[in-house]
Parts: sequence; C-alpha cells; structure tokens
Amino acid sequence: MTNTKYIFVTGGVLSSLGKGLASASIGALLESRGLRVTIQKLDPYINVDPGTMNPFQHGEVFVTDDGSETDLDLGHYERFTSATMGQNNNFTTGKIYHSVIMKERRGDYLGGTVQVIPHITDEIKNSILLAADSMDIVIVEIGGTIGDIESLPFLEAIRQFKADIGKENVLYIHLTLVPYIATAGEVKTKPTQHSVKELRSIGIQPDILLCRTNRFLSEDIKSKIALFCNVSMDEVITAKDVDCIYEVPLIFNKEGLDSKIVELLNIWTRAPRLQAWKELVRKMKTPEHSVTIAVVGKYTDLTESYKSLNEALSHGGIPLNCRVNLMYVDSEQIDADNCKDMLSAADGILVPGGFGFRGIEGKICAASHARENRIPFFGICLGMHVAVVEFARNVAGLKDAHSSEIDSDTPYPVIYLMTEWFDEKTQTLQTRDIHSEKGGTMRLGAYPCSLEKGTLASEAYTAESISERHRHRYEFNNAYKSRLEENGLVVSGLSPDGQLVEIVEFKRKDHPWFLGCQFHPEFKSRPMNPHPLFKSFIKAALVNGEL
Ligand code: GLN
Repeated sequence: MTNTKYIFVTGGVLSSLGKGLASASIGALLESRGLRVTIQKLDPYINVDPGTMNPFQHGEVFVTDDGSETDLDLGHYERFTSATMGQNNNFTTGKIYHSVIMKERRGDYLGGTVQVIPHITDEIKNSILLAADSMDIVIVEIGGTIGDIESLPFLEAIRQFKADIGKENVLYIHLTLVPYIATAGEVKTKPTQHSVKELRSIGIQPDILLCRTNRFLSEDIKSKIALFCNVSMDEVITAKDVDCIYEVPLIFNKEGLDSKIVELLNIWTRAPRLQAWKELVRKMKTPEHSVTIAVVGKYTDLTESYKSLNEALSHGGIPLNCRVNLMYVDSEQIDADNCKDMLSAADGILVPGGFGFRGIEGKICAASHARENRIPFFGICLGMHVAVVEFARNVAGLKDAHSSEIDSDTPYPVIYLMTEWFDEKTQTLQTRDIHSEKGGTMRLGAYPCSLEKGTLASEAYTAESISERHRHRYEFNNAYKSRLEENGLVVSGLSPDGQLVEIVEFKRKDHPWFLGCQFHPEFKSRPMNPHPLFKSFIKAALVNGEL
C-alpha cells in the first residue's frame, strides 16, 4: 500500500518532558542518514487550531508558509529538519470532529450512527496519511500524557494503524521520566513501569523507551526497565537533560537510537552525518562574545510564548561566536521616567509581536529610548506598529497618533485596519471590519516582499525580493506614508504591488540599526541558517556593546 514508515511518539508520567524536541531530534537523526522525513503533531484539545489560544496557556502560535496557525512544536520540527510544515502537519481533536460533523451534515455517512470508533478514529488515520506525501518516514507526535481521557481516540487510532499498514511499517516510541531521588541517592523506574503498563492496557506495546533523566542510565537500570516494560536493554535510551537543545540529537545518537530505529523498521541507510550538528553545538557552547537583548513584551513570564523568537535571537549570534543573553522586560512596568534605567543593561532592544493595549505605552517608551540613544532596535509586527506610532508622535509631529487597534478615536491612525484589499495569494478581494470573526481572519502565512536597494533590509538579506510569514490584522496606513517619509522614515520593504508597507527603518546617518517589520522573521530562522535580520541585529548590538 505504501513505502512510508511511521514512528509514533507518545509521552508518559507528566507533561513538558520534551516530546516535541525528542520528535524533532529523531527527525534530524533520520535526515542525517539520508531519509526523507516529515513530522506531524496530533493535539488532543478541542480548539480547531491554537490560533485563538492565549500564549500564556499554550505558548507561541507557530505560523507556517501556507498560513496555518499551529502548535509551537512545529517550530522545533522545522528548526531541526528540512521539512516544511503546513496544514497537514497539525491536527487537533477540534479539527478532526469539525470535519466529521461537516461530513455528517452533508449526509456522507448515509444514515449510519456516527461514533468515535470507527468514524473519529478513521478520520484521525486519514489525517495521518495526509502527511506522508512521498516521505520515507513520518514521525507522529501525540500531544498530552498517557492516561488523559482526551488523547484516547488518538491512541486507539495509532493502535489500529499498525494492523492497517503492517507491523514492519510502524514503530512506537514512548518518552517517560526516570527521576533521580536525592534522599534515596538513586533513580527510580516505577513511573516508567506504570506509564508503559497504562499504554499496554490500551493495546500499545512500545518498541523503544526514551527515558528523560539527569544522568546516563546504568546497565542495571536499563535492564530493570527492559524487564518490566517488555523491551530489550538496547531499546531503553537515556534522554539526558542538556544545556543546549541542539545537543539532543547527538545524545540520542550516542545512545544508539537512530541505528535501533532503522533496524526495527528494517530499512537500510547510510551512516549518520552529524558533523554539522557537532560543530553547531561546539560553537553554541563556547562563544567568544556575548550581548544582552532586552525583549520588551507582555508575555515575559513565560518564555514559551516567544519560543521561535528566542531561538532566532540565539541563532543570530552563532555566526558571530556570540552568546545572546535575553532580558525579558515587562512593558507594563516601563514608563518615560524609568525607561533608561530599566533598559540600561541592553545592547539591543526588541519589541515582539502581540495583541491588545496592555503595556503598549511602555513599548512606545522603549522605542523612543532606542531611537534617541542610537541603541539597535528591532520591532516585529506589533513592534513595528509601536515604532511607527512613536515616530509619528515624536518626530513627525502627529500628536496622539496611534494604531486604531489600541485607540479607535486617534486623530492620526498611522496603523489601521484595512477593510478591503486584494489578496495576491488567493487572487480574491478580501474584506473585514472590527466585527469579523477572530479565528482565521488575519493576514496569515507567507507573502512576498520587495526590498528597496541600498537599505539596511536589502543589505541584510542580500536579495531584492523575499518571502516572510505574517499573522496580523492591522497594517501601516498609506495616508501617512509621505508625511512620515518627509520626516526621515524609510520604507524599505513593500508588497510587490506597492500597496502594503512591510518594512520600515531609519536612514543610516540617523541611527546605526533601527528596523520594524510587519512579518514574523523568527519563524524562518534555523540554527544552521540563521535569519539575516537577526544576524544583522545581533551584529549591531555586539558593536553597540563594545562601544
Ligand atoms: N495586534 C496586531 C495586529 O493584529 C499585531 C499582531 C502581531 O504582532 N502578530 O495587527
């Protein structure tokens, strides 16, 4: 039926064990053996996609080229492998039920009773097949923890999947915790035993166990786990804690994970080529320089909310042998009086994307401070809006200018809701107003952008046209374009038809590095291929720090 093989990754004991990173790392190792790999995430929650979820609860929303709003683990998948993620790489319970209910309403089930088994499970299995697309391996990560009620239909579907496509084509990998108990002076295997027992009670015998722990497991411990969990000793892999996430594939390889996977799936591959990963980890662990970047935002308590951003910043330092220290500053705490002190340790300032009015004036103060004191400044999406508002108010003399998202009565809506525009991607006229639905109504996904020669942007990218990912409703208001340009704002990136302002910056004589972009460049940065804007920003911050 198919040549594609499937690896299902489940998690036990507790959440946050790093299932996403483990799945991404397995992908990296199999790619390094020359296999074509993709990764899919199945999420048990009922939201149709994470787009409407608060980043405080669920972390960042990762946006793909095709405009899907997905789980942040897809960001790891793209950073660790060369796979391109899209709508078929993330399914939630909500999305599965939505499609089954639509079919039921259309009468597709011909009068039958629609049930979890087989209708929901069939829908899940079909969704898994959608990711295959001429790949050698599809890695499917099941969200949640074994024992949760919500994930049961997914587990039942992957159990059935083995019988459907043949046992030689399916592998189950289970990630568990092996905690070190200081008072006993030893690691404990009982949580792993229980978790595997739970998995077996629903019909899944794991083939490989990844044991998250803070030390390499001894032969004794491995043999104990093997005995109780019905696997062989070399199928018990230590998933040791690491300082640098890009070390995970190397640890797994050292433990023999990739050779075990190809052996069990009965595939022949070349030996893994991990030199680039080794070099990357070496560079990241022994930097010669360091810079401090202040990230002035709203979700500063939970760094999960800015996952891709944090990664992109650290990638930007890699070619410069520079460690990027992040200093999260809660914009609600900043005002014109304390701004200088609060940001005094920063070599560069970044205002990330965001929604809503909270802390907005603090972000505007941060942009002012960066502009006036020639500190490198990077504004992303809402961060660009903030930079434009600050410039309009304090340089172009447009008192009380604002984004109409924040102040609908502003006399100068320099950022506004475009109610009607022609979408080049879909070739359709799009409309929206403040009453439009929240889910899936933003400018989403990859859009082309033309760069103006001789600008900071075109110098950083060394290209004339680029493609970047968007996720926003509000846009630069062209009614104020000439007024702002006359006062020194440079529009360096535009949509190809010239209608949408995508990048603004300052003249080089006015500021060493000040740039705001309407898109989210962080989604396209890779450790082996850092994003040009982040590389250029970190370089400017490094120069600033050394002044
Ligand atoms: N809230 C703004 C908008 O919708 C910016 C969104 C963002 O920063 N991603 O346009």
